Formats: sequence, structure tokens, C-alpha cells
Amino acid sequence: MPSMKLLVAEDDPFSATLLVDALRRIGYQVKVVADGLEAERTLLGDPGIRLVVSDWVMPGIDGPELCRRMRSRLCPLYTYFILITARTGLDSRLEGYRAGVDDFLCKPLNLDELLARVEIARRILEMQEELVRRSAELEALKQELELRNARLADMAITDALTGLRNRRHFHRLYESNFLIASETGRRLTVILLDVDNFKRYNDTYGHPAGDEVLVGVADELRRNVRDRDLIARYGGEEFVVLLPQGGTMEGIALADRLRRCIADREWPNAPITASFGVATLNPSTPNPTALLDLADRALYASKQGGRNRLTHARALGPRVTPFPPPPSPAPGDGIPAAGAG
Ligand code: GH3
Ligand code: MG
Ligand code: MG
Ligand code: MG
Repeated sequence: MPSMKLLVAEDDPFSATLLVDALRRIGYQVKVVADGLEAERTLLGDPGIRLVVSDWVMPGIDGPELCRRMRSRLCPLYTYFILITARTGLDSRLEGYRAGVDDFLCKPLNLDELLARVEIARRILEMQEELVRRSAELEALKQELELRNARLADMAITDALTGLRNRRHFHRLYESNFLIASETGRRLTVILLDVDNFKRYNDTYGHPAGDEVLVGVADELRRNVRDRDLIARYGGEEFVVLLPQGGTMEGIALADRLRRCIADREWPNAPITASFGVATLNPSTPNPTALLDLADRALYASKQGGRNRLTHARALGPRVTPFPPPPSPAPGDGIPAAGAG
């Protein structure tokens, strides 16, 4: 049994000695005072005291008042209060209960009964301590779980290599942004970019060196794209930037800045360039897929045009290939096509 701290408040020296000796003999750490106010000060000074055995009538404040004051304070752990009284009437006991007393002992004291009552108190206090300990453990576990969940949620939307958002997350945000922009007439531009001749780079310098390039490209994107715009790794060496309030001009300007930054960066092994496809929402864009498809076709045009360049979808001619099969009139961004596809 771990020794528990106990306070005896008793102004009669004979009773006090009897109590203290009996309690110490069974292993309690006992403090003893002969005055109600001193008892209060002792309790305030030592929150480790879990059990009070107090006389009713004492100098300073009496036992019920001591108990009342103790109960009015918030403590993390319960303090058990046994009141010793020569008064046996129900009214006195009721007064004690109202003050917050847990149990009574009658004078003259019977030591066996005292020890039995203290044992009951110890059982209750230990049970409460155990409950508090378990609830603290549960709380700690809960916090740990919340932290892990947050980390998992973040991992689920993050690309492990570059730390950018992943394609799944991009699609979720892209689709909601597309909806809002279509309904409110706000602008929306998407930029796709693909590292040029990356297979050759990988084949020449190795896959880890290729990974470093992807991290570098992500770095350039982060550096140049504003917080409100979304950057994601779209697939292998392909990235996407979403400008949720950007029009054609902003899209072209940003894509060209990115293109130059990537081309001008000091790469460890060999120069790196990327090709860009830009598409901007217009009233005739039927759905999110159609806009992305336009950006993809523009990107393809940049590759065909010699790489390290950008194409806006408005410069594309009408679609000639039947893929994907048009469900409705072929999408176009409404701006007259500049040049042939
Ligand atoms: P293009 O200019 O037409 O885009 O040519 P490309 O060689 O870049 O395109 P291709 O699609 O032929 O090759 C893409 C390469 O990207 C092949 C693939 O191994 C590499 N790749 C895709 N994901 C990763 C990656 O996470 N790390 C590395 N190091 N390479 C990757
Ligand atoms: Mg007394
Ligand atoms: Mg590619
Ligand atoms: Mg490529």
C-alpha cells in the first residue's frame, strides 16, 4: 500500500496522540494540527493530503467550516473528510453532510472503527486516483491519435518526393474551383508543364539525379506561384498550377516566368527545360475535364513546336482527333483560334 498523506486536526492532545499513533503504525504519513485555521493553511500548502480526520470543535474554525472551505476550492483529486464528533444526533450529522463531510466517527473513539473507516477512505481515494490516471492516459492517447490523423490526412494529399499537393488533391480542389468559377463568371486558368526529354536525363544521370530535378522544379514553382494559387505534381514529370482568379494574360505571364526560371536554373548535370500548356475557362467550357484537356493539347503543341515553350489553348485549332469522343459540341474556349493546330 503506497503511504497516503493524512491530516489530523484535533485540539485535544490525548485524542490527537491516540489518532496519530494508530495511523502512523499502519503506514500513513500523518500531519497533526490543533487549530482549524492552521488545518486550512496546512491543506492549502500541501495538495498531497488526501484524507482529513478532523474534530468538530476546535479553535479557529470548526470542523464543518474547515470542510466547507476545502470543498469550495477546485482540486484535481478528491479529499476525503472524516469528522469526529461527540454529537450523535441526526441534525448534527446532517449539518456535517451539508458541509461536505464524507463520514463520521463518534467520541469516545474506537480505534478499530477508525482504522476501518480510514481503510474505506483509502479504497475510494485509490480508485479515484486510478480513474484520473486512466483518463489522463486516454486524453494523451486521444491527442496522439489526432496528431497522427492530421499527419495521415496531410500525407494523403501530399506528393512524397516534392512535398507538393498530389493529383488527387488537385482534382478535388480543381473541380470545386471550376464549379464556382463557372457559376460566378470568375476567371480560372490552368497551367500544365512537363519536363522536356526527362527520360534521356534519367537514362544518362540515373533515377536519383532525375528525382533531384523534380524537387528543383517543385522549388521553382513554389518560389514563383502565389499562395492562393495551387501547385500540384500531376504525374511523373508533369506538374499543374491552378490560378483560381487568373485569366489568359496572368496564365501566360506566369507560365513564361516559370519556363524561364526552370531553363535558367543551375542544374547539377545538364540544362533542364519544360514545356507548358495553358488553358483559361470561358463560357463555353463544358466541364473541368474539357479545360484540362485543352491545357494538355496546348502542352502537346509546345512539345511539337520544339519544347521549352508555352502554348495557350486559344492558339489551338479545332480538334481533329476523335479522342475523347465528344459528348456534346466540341469544347473550345471561345476565343478565335490563332494559328493552325
Ligand atoms: P518529353 O519531352 O516528350 O516529355 O520527353 P520525356 O522523356 O520527358 O517523356 P517520357 O514520357 O518519354 O518520359 C518521362 C520520364 O519520366 C520517364 C520516367 O521514368 C520519368 N519519371 C517519371 N516519374 C519519375 C520520378 O518520380 N523520378 C524520376 N527520376 N523519373 C521519373
Ligand atoms: Mg475539540
Ligand atoms: Mg510526361
Ligand atoms: Mg517529359
